[in-house]
Amino acid sequence: MFGLPHGEVTRPRPAGSLGRRLVLATLVFCLVFTLITVAVRTWSAWHANLAAMTSELTLIDQVFQRTLAKALWEVDRESLQTQLDSVAQAAPVGRVELRIRRAGRPPEILEKQHRARSDSALAPALQHLLIYEPYPGASETVGELTLEGDEQLLWQRLQREVASIVVTQVIQSLLLAGLIMWMFNRSVTVHVQHIARHLGQLSPANLKQTLHLGRSAARQDELSLLEAGVNDLQDKLSTFLERQRQDEQDLAAHRDHLAELVEARTAELRAANTRLEELSRSDPLTGLANRRHFDELKDIEFRRALRQGQPLSVLMCDLDCFKPYNDTYGHALGDQCLQAVAKTLSRVFARAGELVARIGGEEFAVLLPGANSAQACTAAERLRQELAELAIEHSSSPVAAHVTLSIGVAQFEPETMDHFDVLMLRADQALYRAKRQGRDRIAV
Ligand code: GH3
Ligand code: MG
Ligand code: MG
Repeated sequence: MFGLPHGEVTRPRPAGSLGRRLVLATLVFCLVFTLITVAVRTWSAWHANLAAMTSELTLIDQVFQRTLAKALWEVDRESLQTQLDSVAQAAPVGRVELRIRRAGRPPEILEKQHRARSDSALAPALQHLLIYEPYPGASETVGELTLEGDEQLLWQRLQREVASIVVTQVIQSLLLAGLIMWMFNRSVTVHVQHIARHLGQLSPANLKQTLHLGRSAARQDELSLLEAGVNDLQDKLSTFLERQRQDEQDLAAHRDHLAELVEARTAELRAANTRLEELSRSDPLTGLANRRHFDELKDIEFRRALRQGQPLSVLMCDLDCFKPYNDTYGHALGDQCLQAVAKTLSRVFARAGELVARIGGEEFAVLLPGANSAQACTAAERLRQELAELAIEHSSSPVAAHVTLSIGVAQFEPETMDHFDVLMLRADQALYRAKRQGRDRIAV
């Protein structure tokens, strides 16, 4: 319902109409009703016509019986004929028959017929004896009169009446159907179409537009209920959508806030990780690389030297007589001394690729990629001199008045060394030699 924008609401026109169906039903009912009514009214009209014809015949009979009886008594043939003609010509009479009684002879029958005789016996008939009173107190039966009604006239009368009944009923039915159609259209169809149009145009944007059927407020019926129901539904829907929109906005705000939080936490975590990584690879006292970092890099550099056929040298440095230093100056100053030596090492070996690591208490290792033993010795000598210039006092050292280092140098030889540890071992052996030869020196 809400998918289409305004104006694009295309709905197939309904094939049927409630009003038309109602009218059709009314017409069918009227037809049946008309048939029944026509039958009943025809039946009663037929009986009324019969009764009317009977009374007409009775009247004619009353008018003529006296004069007929007299003409018979007087045997006045001419008058008899004239009267019979008159009777036969009266409208309701179909046939008139006069039986004249004659003493000792069979009766003579005079008969007159209005039209050609039909065999049907539906028309009423009157039959009675004609009695004449020649003088008061005497009565003579002179004949017998039979009057039969005109059946064709009966049918004609009935036909006229049936036609009028049918016409009246049909007009009445048509008027009734028209009235129902008009009433239904005015009070139902128009409003139902209005409601359908209104519902068709509804969208979330115009839910506040209420349905107004434009009828008098006093009319409270099913349509009023429907109107109120539609408006109520729109109200509820509008409130619901408003709340949903609000909820969605809140949700989006929460989501954004959460994303920011997650981002901040992730950054913190990343920084902490980096820090942890650094910590896990560096020596906390001197800030130099630790043993672990040194072990990672030594293999990489070893393989690179092997691959590229470049020289690689290692220095193993150990502070001379450091235990007596600690004993003389204390552990804290021992630490400071270690930091100062580390600084000097970093300064001397600051070229790209060169790595200084603290691999033991007062032991340091230096990795010198691209340097042969002679270059390594030169660099070691420079280190020794820098340390001498630093002149950290060491009164309990039998070697010098300041802190000194013994350095072992070894260069990687691809022919004899298949593993870095062999190189380390050589450097260690050189260091041991330097110690043995009197310390504060370099051995290769
Ligand atoms: P050598 O000349 O033969 O190397 O003698 P040395 O006394 O230096 O060697 P030794 O191995 O006997 O002693 C090393 C000393 O280094 C022992 C220990 O007290 C000291 N040391 C090791 N780590 C630290 C540290 O982190 N701080 C301090 N202050 N001293 C340390
Ligand atoms: Mg040592
Ligand atoms: Mg030592």
